[in-house]
Amino acid sequence: MTNWDVIVVGAGQAGCAAAWDLAAAGWRVLVLSREVGAGKPCAGGLTEKTLRRLRFSITPVVRETIDTLYVSRYPAADKPLQAPGRFCVMTERAELDRYCLDQAKAQGANFIETRGLASIRQDHDGLTVSTREGDCYQARWLVAADGANSVVRRLLGERHFLGAMAIEGHVRRDDLDEYPGMTLDFDAIRGGYGWLFPKGDHVNVGLYVWQHGIAAPDRAALDNYCLQRLGTAPYKVSGYPLGTWLPRVRLMQGRVLFAGDAAGCTEPLMGEGIYGAVFSGQMAAEALLSEQPGRYPQLMEDWRDELKKVESLSRLFYRLSPVSIPLLQHWIGETLVEGFSKGLTLGQCKRRWRGADL
Ligand SMILES: Cc1cc2nc3c(=O)[nH]c(=O)nc-3n(C[C@H](O)[C@H](O)[C@H](O)COP(=O)(O)OP(=O)(O)OC[C@H]3O[C@@H](n4cnc5c(N)ncnc54)[C@H](O)[C@@H]3O)c2cc1C
Repeated sequence: MTNWDVIVVGAGQAGCAAAWDLAAAGWRVLVLSREVGAGKPCAGGLTEKTLRRLRFSITPVVRETIDTLYVSRYPAADKPLQAPGRFCVMTERAELDRYCLDQAKAQGANFIETRGLASIRQDHDGLTVSTREGDCYQARWLVAADGANSVVRRLLGERHFLGAMAIEGHVRRDDLDEYPGMTLDFDAIRGGYGWLFPKGDHVNVGLYVWQHGIAAPDRAALDNYCLQRLGTAPYKVSGYPLGTWLPRVRLMQGRVLFAGDAAGCTEPLMGEGIYGAVFSGQMAAEALLSEQPGRYPQLMEDWRDELKKVESLSRLFYRLSPVSIPLLQHWIGETLVEGFSKGLTLGQCKRRWRGADL
């Protein structure tokens, strides 16, 4: 049995980011994952701050580049908010994950596809992972990057939380009279928003709710929104929870470091999870490479604090939407769009809005 330095479970954005850094530093890395990109629901929007965080360009998988965001209090008319430069890019998530895994492999990471994990055993010197196929792998460390329904969390008896929820589908561009810009329709669903993300040959349409149980972003709600907004029903519909529980979880258990949605690193206001996934994957790698894995929670402390603040803001924002959405459209919108895109903290956005150069 090969003895790996680290097993990364999950080849999503958190897993690929961790695997890239660890393999680039010469560690023996095994990425164990279900089929890469297979049906993971995600609208594939990457903000400027995420593009800056990635170790490589993702130009080959970019479908659209966005500089203007259209924001409405649905169904009222939308207002364009201009970002200074590029706001985000649109990708197809399966293409993005396969591309990022190839980059990690090019650094030396090994990849094995599995149907899932059966057990994890930890002891003083390392850990053993067995898969549903009956294969066993040993390593010194494990990065759990297996998403919001993390099996690693469950196998280790860690608490499971319910966070945000989203559902998405596709509409063919050819079926539309008008190809929309990137649009957020706040209040298209209670406690959240509807989105239209243009992707070249199709539009990704979806519904997001920031907290579990507020409303059901289900197939009927999505069909209804899509019919009213675009005049046609979506195909390829799927939903998934988002990990928004970082302020409440432990980031490590023994030799296991949780990253991405498995650690709850998604910000709850908009449900942007790719940034937190890449960031936490890189921080997990940094802690391991320093041979001080216990530093990982420390490296994540600022992001955890920021997400606590964003959680409070989300509660207020969606509860007071008749006031907060016009405020966003006409007063603070462009500052927030810039801050969101570039990765400014809420405190920095406030200073920027008051005219400070940052
Ligand atoms: C509908 C929807 C739209 C979204 N749109 C956006 C967006 O536009 N922009 C954005 O920033 N965020 C978006 N998000 C959030 C984003 O998708 C997640 O936050 C992000 O994918 C988290 O990355 P991750 O690597 O932690 O987990 P995931 O992307 O969930 O990756 C987990 C990986 O682990 C594998 N895996 C799972 N279980 C096992 C197992 N038992 N054994 C082995 N492998 C396993 C999976 O196959 C997958 O490869 C969206 C979420 C949803 C639900």
